[in-house]
Amino acid sequence: MMSYNSWLQCIRGCDQRYSIYDVVYRCEQCGGLLDVEHDIEALKARSAASWIKLFDQRIRTNEWPYGSGVWGKKEWVCPQVANENVVSMYEGHTNCFWAERLGKKIGVQGLWVKLCGNSHTGSFKDLGMTVLVSVVKQMIADGKPIQAVACASTGDTSAALAAYCAAAGIPSIVFLPKGKVSTAQLVQPIASGALVLALDTDFDGCMEIVQEVTADNTIYLANSMNSLRMEGQKTVSVEMVQQFDWEVPDWIVIPVGNLGNVSALGKGFLMMKELGLINKLPGIACAQTEKANPLYLSYLTGFKEYRPVTAQKTLASAIQIGHPVSYERAVKALQAFNGVVEQVSEDELANAAARADRTGMYCCPHTGVALAVLFKLIERGDVGPSDRVIVISTAHGLKFTDFKVGYHDRVLKEVVARYDNPPLELPADYRTVKEAITRELERRQEGRKDDGHSSDA
Ligand SMILES: *Cc1c(COP(=O)(O)O)cnc(C)c1O
Ligand SMILES: [Zn+2]
Repeated sequence: MMSYNSWLQCIRGCDQRYSIYDVVYRCEQCGGLLDVEHDIEALKARSAASWIKLFDQRIRTNEWPYGSGVWGKKEWVCPQVANENVVSMYEGHTNCFWAERLGKKIGVQGLWVKLCGNSHTGSFKDLGMTVLVSVVKQMIADGKPIQAVACASTGDTSAALAAYCAAAGIPSIVFLPKGKVSTAQLVQPIASGALVLALDTDFDGCMEIVQEVTADNTIYLANSMNSLRMEGQKTVSVEMVQQFDWEVPDWIVIPVGNLGNVSALGKGFLMMKELGLINKLPGIACAQTEKANPLYLSYLTGFKEYRPVTAQKTLASAIQIGHPVSYERAVKALQAFNGVVEQVSEDELANAAARADRTGMYCCPHTGVALAVLFKLIERGDVGPSDRVIVISTAHGLKFTDFKVGYHDRVLKEVVARYDNPPLELPADYRTVKEAITRELERRQEGRKDDGHSSDA
C-alpha cells in the first residue's frame, strides 16, 4: 500500500497539485474545482485479474477496514490514510435488488435497483462521508488545527456527516434549509449531537453561507465540492459491476441534484476501464424533477449553455437544488458516457415510486424520479427490452414517511395517486370484516392486471 498515492488537481487541467490534506477546495490558479487524482501507473502494476481477486476476497472481511465496500478498494480511494484513522461503519456492499416483477410490467427483462439507502444513515452519502471524515481524523492526528467539519445539506449529507463525526469524536456543524427536509433527516444530526443550524433559506442559500464560514480554515468543508467524498462514492460503480460478476450493465439511471454522485459514478467506471477491469462503459441517464432542472435545461442546449435556476418545492427534496456545485464535473462525465438527462413531474415521480412499492420496493421520492425517467426512456425506445438496467436508489424510503403517508392519504400537491392503498377502517365485527375481505380480494384480483386503480396504469 505504501507505493500508492493520490493528490488534488484542478479539473480544468492546471498542473499545480495539492495534498489531500491541504485545506483547499478550488484551484488557486483558475478557481476551478479540484479532483482527487491517483498514481495510475502504480495501480497498473497490478493486473486487472489481480485487482478483481483482491476486491472479491475482501467482501465483508473482518480485517479492518477492508470489509467496508469503500475501504475494500482503499488503494483506489484513499491509499494514504492510516488504517487506525479510518472512520467506517462498514458502509457499502448494499444489495442490488432484481426488480423482476416491475421489470416485466414496464418491459425490460433485466431491471435491478441498487439500494444505496440500505446503509448506516439511510442514504448513499455514507460512502463519501467515510472518506472525508477519515481524512479529517488523519489531519487532526497529524496536528492540523481543525475545530469542526461543516456542511450545507438537503438532509442526507448532514445525517451522514453528523453520524461519522460522532463516531470519530469530531465536532460537526450542519446548515439546513428550514422546513425543507424530512423529519427523519432533521432529527438524525440532532441525535448525533451536531450543531444544527436551520436557516430561513433554501439549499443554495445554505451553500453560500457554509462557503463563507469555511473560509476560516479551521472549519473544514464537507460538501461535495470537496472531492474526497467522490472517491468513496465512486466505489458504487465497482460494486455494481462486481455484483454483476464483473459485467457492465447497459444503462444506469441516477437521480441528480448537486451532481457529485453522477460525477463519482462516471469516475468509478472510467477508472475500471483504464485499469482493464472492464472494456465498455454503460449509458448513464440523469434524472431530475421539473422543479429543479438546471442540468436538464443545459442538456437541451447540448451543454453549451448553463443557467442556475431557483429550485421550486418538490417532493424529491434531496435534489431541490438550482445551482449544482459539480456542474462542470458532471458534464465532463456525461460527455464521456454519451449521457442523457430527462425530467419528470411530481405526479410522475410519486406514482412511479408507488408503482414500484407495489412490487416489493419501498422507494424514496428520488428513486421515484429515477424510475419515472426510466419509464420514459423505455417508452421512447432509448432503453430496449433486452437491456440490463440498474436504477440507483439513493435513500431509504423510511426517511420519507410524510411522502408515503401523503401519497396514500391523497394529499400530495400536483399528484393524482393511482396506487394508493389506505387502510380500511372497520368496526370490530366478524361479519363486516369477513365481507370486507371478500370484496377487497375480488377487487384486487381485477386490479392485478395493472396493480393500480385505473386501467391505463
Ligand atoms: C444527495 C442526494 C441526491 C443527489 O446527489 P448529488 O450528488 O447531489 O447529485 C439524490 N438523492 C438523495 C436521496 C440524496 O440524498
Ligand atoms: Zn485551475
